[in-house]
Amino acid sequence: MEKPVDASIQQWCSLYHSKRKSKGITADHIPIVYNKKVNITFFGLQKLHSFDPEKYRHVVTLLLNNKIIQSKSQLIPQHRIHGKQLMELHTKEYIKTTLKTPVELAQICEFPPLALAPMPLLTSKLLKPMKYHVGGTILAGELALKYKFAIHLGGGMHHASFDSGGGWCVYSDISLSIQNLMKQGKITTAAIIDLDVHQGNGHERFVVLLL
Ligand SMILES: [Zn+2]
Repeated sequence: MEKPVDASIQQWCSLYHSKRKSKGITADHIPIVYNKKVNITFFGLQKLHSFDPEKYRHVVTLLLNNKIIQSKSQLIPQHRIHGKQLMELHTKEYIKTTLKTPVELAQICEFPPLALAPMPLLTSKLLKPMKYHVGGTILAGELALKYKFAIHLGGGMHHASFDSGGGWCVYSDISLSIQNLMKQGKITTAAIIDLDVHQGNGHERFVVLLL
């Protein structure tokens, strides 16, 4: 059973502070946000996609095998974001109409078989994991502000904007994370360092909205 988010954060914080006093911050003391629910499976069909929708669990295995983290208990699991919160950035039409249409979702995810799937299945197998991606980036933003550094093993959906998606990006987690901190008055500026080979056209449009 997964640990509650708050308990994990508290556990990490006490570890962080005790280690920080004695040795300084090292890789295993950086908050790493991860919930296995971000991995997307679709009855094996996901293996046909050029993008590996289960790569997040592979990253965790890599971290463990290389002893960058000692155990999965060091990972801080996030909650998923809910529709009302999504509509603080995304348009109602995008959330309520576009993302309720299998053909549109298949286009956004660049995976034609999704167009044939019933919507309830897409909601549970695709949209729900995507909401965990957003929840993770929001939590990592909060933790980074508090502890100077945080990592989320998920998210980075830089092609999603407030009224559109594409390139496997459904929700604009980066923009939602920045918006969350701005709304609380915790930040007034933010830098996005995008290392993807594509242009981050989704969050670019969000930045334009802020100007
Ligand atoms: Zn990209």
